[in-house]
Amino acid sequence: MPTAFIAEYGSGYPVIGLLGEYDALPGLSQKVCAEKNPVEEGGNGHGCEHNLIGTGLVGTAVALQETMRREKLAGTIRYYGCPAEEQLIGKPMMAKEGVFDDLDIALSWHPEKLNQVIQYSSLAVKSVKFRFKGISAHAAMAPQLGRSALDAVEIMNVGANYLREHVVDTARIHYVITNGGKVPNAVPDDAEVWYMIRDQKQSMVEEITERLYKIAEGAALITETSVSHKILSSCYEMIINPEVSELIYKNMEEVGAPEFDDEDREFARQFTDQMSEEARKEVMDSYFAPKEVRDNLPLHDKIYKPDDWGKVMPGTFDHGDVSNIVPFGYMFIAGLPVGMPGHTWQVTACAGADMGIKAMMCAAKIMAGTVYDLLQDNTLVERAKASFEKEMNGRKYVSGLGD
Ligand SMILES: [Zn+2]
Repeated sequence: MPTAFIAEYGSGYPVIGLLGEYDALPGLSQKVCAEKNPVEEGGNGHGCEHNLIGTGLVGTAVALQETMRREKLAGTIRYYGCPAEEQLIGKPMMAKEGVFDDLDIALSWHPEKLNQVIQYSSLAVKSVKFRFKGISAHAAMAPQLGRSALDAVEIMNVGANYLREHVVDTARIHYVITNGGKVPNAVPDDAEVWYMIRDQKQSMVEEITERLYKIAEGAALITETSVSHKILSSCYEMIINPEVSELIYKNMEEVGAPEFDDEDREFARQFTDQMSEEARKEVMDSYFAPKEVRDNLPLHDKIYKPDDWGKVMPGTFDHGDVSNIVPFGYMFIAGLPVGMPGHTWQVTACAGADMGIKAMMCAAKIMAGTVYDLLQDNTLVERAKASFEKEMNGRKYVSGLGD
């Protein structure tokens, strides 16, 4: 991946990884204002504030470099430039290449609607395209000579819909037909369907995907077509390390929440005023945020300590793979108004506003403090590694991307 990179400072144990992201989203170009007004019509925009993640962690790395030099601290800081998080492919690809294998701890953060250390898990996912090849023929004059690739796609989808009854309740299977032929009077010889399979555990995702492969082969057999598949992405569920999580929380308390002023609050209020209480609740419920956080309008300005162990949020992060390789810690820092829906032009507006910059600086400090503690006291690293080994219980990470 030409847009992935690694930068490193220091030497030896412990090796601490900072996972930076910087990818934007298509069509979300937006100026720093509360009405829709793109910088470039139809252009890309930071509708998930990843510009702040990547840059904030550069701040962390630079601060640590100076401190390590001054205090002659041993250890290695490694910054990972991780592209394409929104495609859920950057870190899984890097993980497959083994670039995280020698880390002792990995850390990252995300600008969000609240300040909290993360404890819950996220969904594992696999994204696969199935392509069927048949034989084209005139649909009226010689249909007997045709073998329809579209029929195969439809039969595969019927099979997958029957499969739903026989998978665990936590699984999700979604699909779209990305190619169903061109015209109805020619038997389609080429058709494609795109599946995403999700569950709380990657092992279950693999199991369901194997069954889908069988369904695809069955559909090909019935229709006398052939099928091939391509894995687009594959992410593990996120495993949060309790020791690292506790250390991040300690540093959050020390640094505090971003210091928003009246101007930030005024800007944020232009967005929150347009949200209904119900819509705000729905958005904040997906983070398991309680009422006191939800009502902390327009910008969350406290540190919230959750009790979310064992919960699973209904989304996917592409650092799930890294968290299955080494102990991982993660936090959210408020850089968005409470209740704002993600992946919107409104988020892009905030990503360039002062509130975003304040969140970024706050996160950079908390992450720097966390790494500093790990470098100062290696027993923290060892405790995190021991609890990681216990969690994995002998299981070793295997990339879900295939060969
Ligand atoms: Zn994001």
